[in-house]
Amino acid sequence: MAKKRTKKPKISYLTIDLREYVSRYVALSQADMYWKGDCPFEGCESDDTFMLSDHLHIWHCTSCKRNGDIVGFVAHKDVCSREEAYKKLLEELPISCK
Ligand SMILES: [Zn+2]
Repeated sequence: MAKKRTKKPKISYLTIDLREYVSRYVALSQADMYWKGDCPFEGCESDDTFMLSDHLHIWHCTSCKRNGDIVGFVAHKDVCSREEAYKKLLEELPISCK
């Protein structure tokens, strides 16, 4: 018998490309295996301290020490909870991914 599962759309690097999304807010330039740019977060805004890894799908800032995944990026950018950030991302997804 099949188990009933609550259908919760999953946001991952499969549905949203982290670098594509972040580059809407940060001008990224390639540095070896990473991408870097100015930190977009309030109270930091340091030059070239924001690093992003394409293959690990994570980012971090060496100045303010914030780090995370794509949901974390939205949460820090919009200063909201991960739950809210998750919802915002869902709204931005193309219909075909929902
Ligand atoms: Zn920072």
